[in-house]
Amino acid sequence: MTNSTLTKPKVGMYENVMKQFEKAADKLNLDPGVRKILATTNSEIVVNFPVKMDNGEIKTFTGYRVQHNNALGPYKGGLRFHPTVDIDAARALAIWMTWKTSLAGLPFGGGKGGIQLNPKEYSSTELERITRRFTYALGDNIGPDLDIPAPDVNTNAQIMAWISDTYASTKSPATRFNNLHVVTGKPMGSGGLAGRDRATGYGVVVTIALWAQKNNYDLKGKTFIVQGYGNVGYWTAHFLSQLGAKLIAAQDASATLYNKDGIDVEALQDHSIGYKDQIIGFEGASEIPSEDFFGLDCDIIVPAALGNQITAENAENIKAKLIAEGANGPTTTEGEDILLKRGVHVIPDILCNSGGVIGSYFEWLQNKRSEIWKQDEVLELINDKISIAYEAVHKMAEEYDTDMRNAAYLVALKRLEQTYKERGVFP
Ligand code: GLU
Repeated sequence: MTNSTLTKPKVGMYENVMKQFEKAADKLNLDPGVRKILATTNSEIVVNFPVKMDNGEIKTFTGYRVQHNNALGPYKGGLRFHPTVDIDAARALAIWMTWKTSLAGLPFGGGKGGIQLNPKEYSSTELERITRRFTYALGDNIGPDLDIPAPDVNTNAQIMAWISDTYASTKSPATRFNNLHVVTGKPMGSGGLAGRDRATGYGVVVTIALWAQKNNYDLKGKTFIVQGYGNVGYWTAHFLSQLGAKLIAAQDASATLYNKDGIDVEALQDHSIGYKDQIIGFEGASEIPSEDFFGLDCDIIVPAALGNQITAENAENIKAKLIAEGANGPTTTEGEDILLKRGVHVIPDILCNSGGVIGSYFEWLQNKRSEIWKQDEVLELINDKISIAYEAVHKMAEEYDTDMRNAAYLVALKRLEQTYKERGVFP
């Protein structure tokens, strides 16, 4: 059974991020000038470009890159390949990146983009040409000190390698290796960072463990469900099951699977890899209707797919104690109001999934310094940075007597406000 909420294009992500921003800006009494600046995106690049398909036919594609704000450093954020990519989604996702990098204490701003397409409809050779031609069309709008893309929904290390190679190939041969870090999330043989593949899921579980510690909650034997079994969903399930929690349901665009006795996380991943990245057909669980997913009896929900999944329509049915947002923007403001009233805790996306961009920062540093770092060190560094951000959010939530999302925004906005206060606005 196809899950329509994961295949149907979403609207209103920009509206969602702006509502979250307004709430925090009011609470903080944010400087009116800074408020105007942060409510605006710096640049919005839309490119239309042609690509030759395997059968010789020419198709045209539309790609986006929105650069929201670079007060703290180069724009940073992923590129997604998905039918829901449009200017509204790219704007919202770029804005979330600005808050995320600010909260994590990174020297980056926020950007996001991608191509509106369903990658499952194209061969690998077609995807390579689409990626390379998109990179060429973006030209000098990206760069290692200007705007640094990374993987996001349906993009991976291979796609980053093609972007890096295309970008470097259009520069002079002498500077070729100074340009590797135009993207992060590259494969290990192409300047990638050990551990970047698992960084987001690892970070999600670090935040869940910190939440459990603060709330005297024993994760052993607790049940969890995961929406999206891609990079974030799988690695979250992997690390969370290592802490003794049990995966009992998973959902992606192809199916919703349930097994009250537990789903073998690694077997499901092996199945999905062998089945075009889809969980449908896995024998270790049964299929249930997609609309039953969020209301399942479980302790923790990890939305790790697309935006606008937990809404006013389904928030009342949620039985879990905790939502850990592996995806960007999975909860609408209306959905969240209901959750908060019902005492459900939410670890907000800009904190919960920040392990990915923190890992990217270390990859960027590794490339700038021409070094090769070890995975254990990398995971330790991510753990440190995300724990500092978590503590800052926790303290802010107490100080301002507010929820975790609002507190995360307050930390992020204060840092940006401080920067503008110190530097002023040119000229
Ligand atoms: N796409 C990821 C995110 O939404 C990672 C971004 C990055 O590493 O730049 O945070």
